[in-house]
Amino acid sequence: MGLFEGKKGLVFGIANDHSIAWAITQQLHAEGAEMGFTHLPDKDPERPRMERRLRKLVDDFDKFILPCDVQNEENLDAVFAKAKEEFGEIDFVLHSIAYAPMDDLKGPVHNVSRDGFKLSMEISCYSLISLASRARKILKPGGNILSLTYLGGEKVIPGYNIMGVCKSALESTIEYLANELGPEGFRVNALSAGPLKTLSSSAVGEFDQMTKLYESFSPLRRNITPEEVGKTGMFLMSDQASGISGENLHVDAGYHIMGAPPHDVQSA
Ligand code: NAD
Repeated sequence: MGLFEGKKGLVFGIANDHSIAWAITQQLHAEGAEMGFTHLPDKDPERPRMERRLRKLVDDFDKFILPCDVQNEENLDAVFAKAKEEFGEIDFVLHSIAYAPMDDLKGPVHNVSRDGFKLSMEISCYSLISLASRARKILKPGGNILSLTYLGGEKVIPGYNIMGVCKSALESTIEYLANELGPEGFRVNALSAGPLKTLSSSAVGEFDQMTKLYESFSPLRRNITPEEVGKTGMFLMSDQASGISGENLHVDAGYHIMGAPPHDVQSA
């Protein structure tokens, strides 16, 4: 019997088959989870590209699909109302969402516009708060929320710029939420993934240099795979991780522990 047999949850953040949320969803599905999915609302209803792309991926799943822009309170209310109607209570929420306008993302941070800052923080950080406030009303005791972050929230990663500031706020939010929701029986965690080629990461400057650094600096001397992030995400959301909350678990081939290049790189 799968770890998620009889479990139900919501997944926010599948844009395509490269999305980290999709890597995690595949593992959840393999373990028996039933899920509701959201996609960014399509601008042209005649050509619903976002919806079509998602539907194709989850075609043979037990599921519901709704549009949801996390900036839109009505969209959010509709998703949680649907989850309550379909599932009654839920066991997990996956938050795999981030955005910053290109002009602000390319940096430097000291040139970020006021509007760009607000938008980036709202979509990349406040969205977790708005999901958590709704989720706690329908989460089962033992339920949990998982969000995706990156090392750029803890340390300066040149090129990550304003998104690093957002991830820092997101990681702090996860800790505060873990403390607040813990007494209600809910866990809140972060998975800090190493670089993976996705739609979002293609907008981050110096991405290719980062993957080369991971190959030479990380203890495992390689980059991670989507499957590795998928499996760890599934683990963190499963009952196997029932004692873990407020954690920021790095799936990055160990890169985050290094304070200086390894000897073989120094002497090369
Ligand atoms: P992705 O582009 O596949 O996913 C980002 C998702 O955010 C998309 O599904 C997009 O539709 C959604 N989104 C953006 N604005 C939204 C809005 N207003 N309302 C609702 N949804 C919105 O890229 P990804 O790399 O899978 O990113 C998922 C998460 O993983 C992000 O938080 C990202 O920062 C984080 N992350 C990515 C990497 C990486 O290297 N790819 C590493 C660490 C952490």
